[in-house]
Amino acid sequence: MRDLQPALENRRQQQLYRRRRVVEKCQGTALQINGQPLINFCSNDYLGLAGHPDVAAAMQQGIRDWGVGSGAAHLVTGHTAAHHALEEALADFTGYPRALLFSSGYMANQGVITALMGRGDTLFQDRLNHASLIDGGLLSRAKLKRYPHNETTTLAEQMALASGEKMIITDGVFSMDGDLALLPALATIAAGQQAWLMVDDAHGLGVLGEEGRGSVDHFSLGPAEVPILMGTLGKAFGTFGAFVAGSEALIETLIQQARSYIYTTAPPAAVAEATRASLRIVRQESWRRERLNELIGRLREHALKLGLPLMDSPTPIQPIVAGDAGRALAWSQQLESAGILVGAIRPPTVPVGSARLRITLSAAHSDPQFEQLLSALSRLQS
Ligand SMILES: *Cc1c(COP(=O)(O)O)cnc(C)c1O
Repeated sequence: MRDLQPALENRRQQQLYRRRRVVEKCQGTALQINGQPLINFCSNDYLGLAGHPDVAAAMQQGIRDWGVGSGAAHLVTGHTAAHHALEEALADFTGYPRALLFSSGYMANQGVITALMGRGDTLFQDRLNHASLIDGGLLSRAKLKRYPHNETTTLAEQMALASGEKMIITDGVFSMDGDLALLPALATIAAGQQAWLMVDDAHGLGVLGEEGRGSVDHFSLGPAEVPILMGTLGKAFGTFGAFVAGSEALIETLIQQARSYIYTTAPPAAVAEATRASLRIVRQESWRRERLNELIGRLREHALKLGLPLMDSPTPIQPIVAGDAGRALAWSQQLESAGILVGAIRPPTVPVGSARLRITLSAAHSDPQFEQLLSALSRLQS
């Protein structure tokens, strides 16, 4: 049994130590931590639905109707009419024949990849894909090829040499950079190679496209070009869980084979009811996306004026590159003293030398809150 302390100490010295903050109060974008009020600029609640009264009321009604826990896996007695109605609503929303609920995005990614890919197959993943996609790939035992970020020429070359079943997987919106995958080019390559194309749209759904249908819709693509769409419900939808949308045969295959679907408790029915309420708001209230776009434009204009190293992102994820981890931490501490909570993202979550502040915007940020962010950024000292 090895001593764990030296490795922990080593991490601390490299400014890579991770620690949790205890949130003492949370009212929408207003938090309290260590008695200090802070405005939250690091959540993924892009549309401000996590605390929406209609969503909360649907969850309370769901608890009255169904109780708190689902009590079993989907394949036993955990799959209620509430889950089923949400799956149908998600299929209708995304324009895919069917959708299947998972308990989390991490599990959805594992389930899909391991159900479809195995030894002798080849999986192609953008180097900046989310950790859950990489982990799912490792678990599947397929050969894993990671191509440089959005470099579709390299991908096409790698694919020409590959054997077995082939699958390309990409984030729709890259979670730490905020930029978009080049989906039209990926779709062309996948079609030419008779390969699967899977898009993890955790950060695109609700935010991009008509009615918030995400990055696939943003590029005017659909099930024909992107046969597997994964979406999470804990981000713009403001609730919890995830889903996979695809053909009838794909969804039935996942029900038979996806171990992270089969061997886990179904999410509470009340969460499904809450998500149905939030989906209605996502579709109908396009002012939330317009508000987000207004804030994105204003933040970018301000940061460029200040000469801050913004990354090229058109989404609510707006990273400012600090370079080394110590500087990213120092910046986030300066913002925190000014009442602004922004995450410092460090290796290994992002490549060494690209530690950054990851500012995320929400339609729920008020004008005074947003002004407070801008003024705190103006006073950042390198
Ligand atoms: C958050 C996230 C996930 C994981 O989803 P959870 O529901 O939080 O497990 C998967 N992929 C991407 C790109 C994400 O940002």
